[in-house]
Formats: sequence, structure tokens, C-alpha cells
Amino acid sequence: MSISKKLINIKATLPKNVSLVAVTKTKTINEIMEAYDSGHRLLGENKIQEMVAKWSALPKDIKWHMIGHIQRNKVKYMAPFVSLIHAVDSLKLIIEINKQALKNQRVIDCLLQIKIASEESKFGMSENDALILLATEDIKELQNIRIIGLMGMATFTNNSNQISKEFQNLKIFYDTLKETRHFTTLSIGMSDDYPIALVNGSTMVRVGSAIFGNRNYS
Ligand SMILES: *Cc1c(COP(=O)(O)O)cnc(C)c1O
Repeated sequence: MSISKKLINIKATLPKNVSLVAVTKTKTINEIMEAYDSGHRLLGENKIQEMVAKWSALPKDIKWHMIGHIQRNKVKYMAPFVSLIHAVDSLKLIIEINKQALKNQRVIDCLLQIKIASEESKFGMSENDALILLATEDIKELQNIRIIGLMGMATFTNNSNQISKEFQNLKIFYDTLKETRHFTTLSIGMSDDYPIALVNGSTMVRVGSAIFGNRNYS
């Protein structure tokens, strides 16, 4: 099946309030243009350099989401154009994003990445650390960053009960925070688990291989 066909099929299964980030990491300009030509404008990358290179090469009406772990010294490269940063996990990073957003006279939207998986390797904050961070005085003074929700990655497992439980816990935390904040976005769900994420309140799925095929890292 073609890239555009797969993209359109997946979009058709999503409720109206759920947006699809088509994850283009390792994919070529030609492959990405196939998604673009089918009308898709929301793309995700996990490496800043790769995202900047593609942003330069591709049409400027594409919205770029940074979905990967971020090194602070690279924030400046994406600050002129990035539309949402998914994996924010420290106050230092937030301060740097705010600084670079200010330089570009922009307000940059961000999500806090919460660690929900059982694996050690996954990035993200604990719920408690997120609560502490959101309550700090420093953060209230930052005018050029908006925290608009949460992001999470479930454990890499075939156990759908476990995945479901992890998403469900994050959704509960999200709803609690939403009572007192302007949260709009819960970014959960990838190619293998987005149907489970949809059942558990996802408002944004990040899907790569189910659209573009397996990634070639060689
Ligand atoms: C690569 C990646 C995805 C997409 O993964 P697929 O399994 O190919 O859909 C989603 N989120 C993050 C953070 C990623 O790095």
C-alpha cells in the first residue's frame, strides 16, 4: 500500500479531536512529499539536526513537532520554527526553550514527558517531579513557553493490558492537572499501540512505521 493510502486509512480511524503526527525520522524528502501531497501537514522528528534539514528543504506550511529527547545546546536551531516540543523533562530545558523563543519573538508550546514505561531506558519525569516543576515560581515568569499537556511512551511489550494500564494512569494524571491548567494535549500512541491510546484518552498520536514502513538506520 502507498504511503498516502496508509496515511489516509489511519486518519480515517481517528476521532475528530485527535491529531496525527506523521513521524518522518530517517525518511527521505520524496517519501515525506508523498504524505504532503495527500494533504498532511503535521510531521514529527526526534533529532533536531534532521528536523532542521528537512524544514529547510520542504514547504513552509508544514508544522514540525520535536518528539525526541533534547539536548539543551540544540534548542536554538529549532526555536525559529518548531510548533510543539513533546519531550520536555526539566526546568533547565524549559528555561532554555523560553530564552530561545524570546529571541525569536515566539511563544513555543511544550508537553511534559512523563515516564510511564517499566523500562529503564525511557526518558521522562515522574508524576511527582512534574507536580514540583509545575509549582515552581520560576516557571510562572516565563512568558515565551506554554505547557499545554503531557506526553508518554508505553513499555515495548505485547501485553496490551500493561500498555493500557500505563496510558490509563497518565490519562488520570492529565485530567487532574487539567482541572487547574489550560491543558489541551495528551500525546500517547505510536504505530503498535495507538488504538490502545485512543481508548485511553489520547488527543495526539505519533505514528511512523505504520505509515512510512520500517526505518532503515544503516
Ligand atoms: C519513532 C517515534 C515514534 C513513532 O514510532 P512508530 O513505532 O514508528 O510509530 C513515536 N514517538 C516517538 C517519541 C518516537 O521516537
